[in-house]
Amino acid sequence: MKYLSEYRNFDATKKYLDEIHKITTRVWNIMEICGGQTHSLVKNGILDLLPDKVRMIHGPGCPVCVTPLNLIDKAIELLAQGVIVCSFGDMIRVPGSKKSLLEAKAVGGDLRILYSPLEAVSIAKQHPDKEVVFFAVGFETTAPANALSVLHAEKEGINNYSILASHVLVPPAMEAILSDELCTIDSFLAAGHVCAIMGIQEYYPLVSTYKIPIIVTGFEPLDLVQGIYMAVKQLEEGRCELENQYARVVKEHGNTAAIEVIRKVFEVGAREWRGIGEIPNSGYIVKDDYRKYDAEAKFDISYMNTPENSDCIAGEILRGIKKPNQCDQFGKTCKPANPLGAPMVSSEGACAAYYHFQTI
Ligand code: SF4
Repeated sequence: MKYLSEYRNFDATKKYLDEIHKITTRVWNIMEICGGQTHSLVKNGILDLLPDKVRMIHGPGCPVCVTPLNLIDKAIELLAQGVIVCSFGDMIRVPGSKKSLLEAKAVGGDLRILYSPLEAVSIAKQHPDKEVVFFAVGFETTAPANALSVLHAEKEGINNYSILASHVLVPPAMEAILSDELCTIDSFLAAGHVCAIMGIQEYYPLVSTYKIPIIVTGFEPLDLVQGIYMAVKQLEEGRCELENQYARVVKEHGNTAAIEVIRKVFEVGAREWRGIGEIPNSGYIVKDDYRKYDAEAKFDISYMNTPENSDCIAGEILRGIKKPNQCDQFGKTCKPANPLGAPMVSSEGACAAYYHFQTI
């Protein structure tokens, strides 16, 4: 398949691996931001093929993993109040403080697992006597569809639909990681799909302020190895620039139609990241004009506040301070079938990727 098989080609990938081995002279810590990239690195055995001196650090780029416990509890509370809650499948097994959405469904909650928020708007239209909430989790990538669902409900005059928004933004999280005194990261692989929506302009200030190379990178083995090569080459040459490895998809200004839809419905505001805490300007908040489609404003759930499980060190994993197999619970009390934290649930979570694919 065009643009897929070429990027899984072993010979082409090996050429870049050989170059990385040739040019690497010292230890470099490179963080891949996106959980999809982590999954691909681990699944394709790339971590084992890199020189020991090139160390990949797994970043916080799994939206399921960084959705705060209290938002999961809020979604479960809505189910208990008789609301139809709709969600993508990856959220339903993530543990809240007492149970997951799936367990809430098992005791009678009307949870619907969907592929698109527009399906949730249709459900609201079919059930005018019920409230319908879509659990709108994601990075910049899912924000356009969630914003569109609100605009669609408005256009159709549907008033029993709202979203429980948990959108997080990548560049502020990168800045928070770089500002951490424990940060040892020399370079970032930025998430290609996020840049496909938002463009790459937000990354120039990070490069110039923190003097760090950032490579916008795709998800296939060749993408990742080429991105790592571009990062190592810049580091070895003492350069720090923004480069776009994923130019077949990512354009300088992104998808302007998608950005316009996002800006119509959402504004930027502070967001809580699970395991990291609140990061200023790191999330999308529903604008006042669309407040009646904001589940947190519509329902009395704002009082809910849930502490994290103290046995789970997801915060350190998500900030790149520790690897999943450095967690005492990894593979013992915490497994995909019985996860203590979100990174063990999501297919993009670093802990699940290590559990399924990495030799311990
Ligand atoms: S292995 Fe489990 S307990 Fe440890 S950080 Fe990962 S999700 Fe949390």
